[in-house]
Order: sequence, then C-alpha cells, then structure tokens
Amino acid sequence: MPDKNFHFNGFGSTAIHAGHTQDANYAHQVPIYASSTFVYDNAEQGMNRFSGKEEGFIYSRWGNPTFREAEEKINALETYSLPIETHAILHASGMAAITTLMLSNLKSGDKVVSHFSLYGGSDDLLQTVLPALGIESIIVDLTNLEIAEDVLKKNKNIKMLYLETPANPTIQCVDLEQLSKLAKQYGILVACDNTFATPYLQQPFNYDIDFIVHSTTKFLNGHGSAIGGVLLGRDVEFMKTKVTKTHRLLGGNANPFDAFLLIQGIKTLELRMIRHCHNASEVANFLNHHTKVARVNYAGLSTHPSYEIATKQMKHPGAMLSFELKDGLQGGISFMNKLKMCTRTVSLGTVDTLLSHPASMTHQSVSAEHREKYNITEGLIRMSVGIEDLQDIINDLEQALS
Ligand SMILES: *Cc1c(COP(=O)(O)O)cnc(C)c1O
Repeated sequence: MPDKNFHFNGFGSTAIHAGHTQDANYAHQVPIYASSTFVYDNAEQGMNRFSGKEEGFIYSRWGNPTFREAEEKINALETYSLPIETHAILHASGMAAITTLMLSNLKSGDKVVSHFSLYGGSDDLLQTVLPALGIESIIVDLTNLEIAEDVLKKNKNIKMLYLETPANPTIQCVDLEQLSKLAKQYGILVACDNTFATPYLQQPFNYDIDFIVHSTTKFLNGHGSAIGGVLLGRDVEFMKTKVTKTHRLLGGNANPFDAFLLIQGIKTLELRMIRHCHNASEVANFLNHHTKVARVNYAGLSTHPSYEIATKQMKHPGAMLSFELKDGLQGGISFMNKLKMCTRTVSLGTVDTLLSHPASMTHQSVSAEHREKYNITEGLIRMSVGIEDLQDIINDLEQALS
C-alpha cells in the first residue's frame, strides 16, 4: 500500500492502488469478506453504528469491505484528474445499478428521455417497467440536437436524460458535452452508461454529467468471471441518503466474491484497454477492405457517422465494432460456425474476442421491421475485440470469411 504522503498520478497506478487499505492481518490482497453481518463489542457500539455516530459495517446488503475497495477504485478512475468528489455504490449487476438510478430519481408523473440505440435490458426497463409505474419514457434520436431540444421544450416533467455512448449494435455515439449543456438549461439530470468506453477512454463527469452507471461485468472485470454493476453520482449528499436508501431497500447488493474478482480485473484495465483498442482498430481496417464485408461500424473509421463525436470525447474509439456480411442471414450463420479461435457468445469486454450474430441470437424474436429500424440487418455480426495476438484474430476471421 503506497504511503499516504506519496501522491501517485497515473491512471494505471490509480487502477492498481486506489481503494486499497491495510488489512488487519496484513494480507496483500483485500480478503473476500464472506460475512452477512458485522459484530459489535457492546450494545453501545451497535447503537452508534446504526445511528451513524460510528463508522463501520452493519449488514452486507448495506455495504461490505470488499465492495468498498471496488467502489473506491471505480470512483477514483471516473474522477481521475478531475477536481470533483463523487460517491459510488456497487451493485449485483448493471441492471440493478440502473434500477437504483431510476427509482431513486423518478416518480409517477416524471418523464425520462433517451436515445433509441440502448442496451436491450435498459431499453426494456424504460419501455415496460417504468411506464407501469407511471414514469413515461421518451425515446428519440439524440444524435440530432435540434430534435433533442424540441423534446425538452415541448414536454413538462422531464426529470432525466439517460445516455449510453457508444452503444449497440452500430456503435453510435451521442454528444455528452452538448446534450449535458442542453439538459442543464432545462434543469434536467443527466445519467450516462459508460460500460463500452470505461473511464480509461471516456470520463462523463468531465461534461457535468450527474450520474454514471457501468455494467462491471464487461471491460472493468475484463475476464467474464462475474456479473456486477456500479452507480456513481456527483451529488455526494444525495448519493449517501436517498440513493443509498433506495439501493438498500431494492436489495440489488453485490457479493464479496464477485467484488474481489472485479478488483483484480480493474488493476489491469489500462494495459488491457491499450491492447483491446489497438487490435480493434486493426481488425476494423482489415474488415473494411474485405470483399465479403458490406459495411463496418466502428467509430474509428472516418466514414462512421459518430467519428467526430467519438474523436472529441473518447481517448480512442474503443474495442467494440460490428460488420455486415454481404450474404445476409445464411452468411452470418455460416461465418459464426466456421470460427475456430474467437468465441461465439454474447456479452463483451473480456480478454478473448467475442462474436455474436444478433439476427440468429439476441434479436431472433424481434420483428424484421423493428430490426430494420434499429439497423440490425440479417448479416450483422457484433464483435468485442479481445487481447489475443492480432494476427491470430485476423487469421481466424479470414478463414471464417472464406
Ligand atoms: C451488459 C450491459 C448492461 C447490463 O449489465 P448487466 O451486468 O448484464 O446487468 C447495461 N448496459 C450496457 C451498455 C451493457 O453492455
């Protein structure tokens, strides 16, 4: 553990050291605190913990030392080199974090505005769960700032703007700076799902965003070994009161083992992201010149509609891309079947390269008309580029495309 008087400055050092405290038994790594409750020396101490007079853990649904290390690490990374303080709460999953975000900020009669290209679970939450509670979701094209302003102007009771950038499956980006500015003019809260970018590539708090959510299941964990989520907010007081209470009552707490895996994963975030990003740029170039590929969606290609926004707000356009095969549904199925090293699966952000075919997998039940609207064509392949040797990834793609 670094000396308190030594100030390390790098993002990589922060990922490795932030949040770590000296263990009572001098264990090098944070222990997995597999304990549902925490004990008191006497009744007075119990009283003082409950009243908040004394710091200390009470019950793991409320908080746990292993969770805390992960929370402090992610907090440090999302505010890295920014002069602000934020508060983070670890959750059982990305969806649990998003649920706490929504239910601690919105009530019946409120409206939330979002973009049409969202993670499937978030989209479903906004379109089915929230409306059943009397919270209206307005889904519009937020890449068009005029449409965005028009919606904010014409609707009363909009409480939150919910953003996700970059987003599936066409790697669309929305402009964090402009949308945040616009929302502030109308007194609206702004939340951003930063899962695809990670704090290494993009820091939404830099743009006055109020809340950040992550599915830590993806790049932050990095190894596909645990489900998790985190919610961060820049109004520390609100986070420690209303949001904490909502989180505790909804019961979407993390568990110590998954938090431990997450902590170990985050330590190599910078190294992994550098390689993920390098490989993704090269793979995008390779696919872009391949005769079997009709189109490549990668925000690092100057032909991509989000190229300029991605260049402005991200350190690098990231490791997610999708591409369209000329041979449609059959072409997609045949390509997926031929893969020999890359992994056929959904999800993203792991060390190995993952490919999925939305038309035959995740979006099978979605009507053709809807798929078209979301640009999910029959031959679309989604790819999370891993950190294997670049040439091996390209060789596998090449033989599967042939
Ligand atoms: C996976 C994902 C989620 C949901 O996270 P879970 O951990 O699966 O609950 C939310 N947003 C994005 C962008 C995701 O990729």
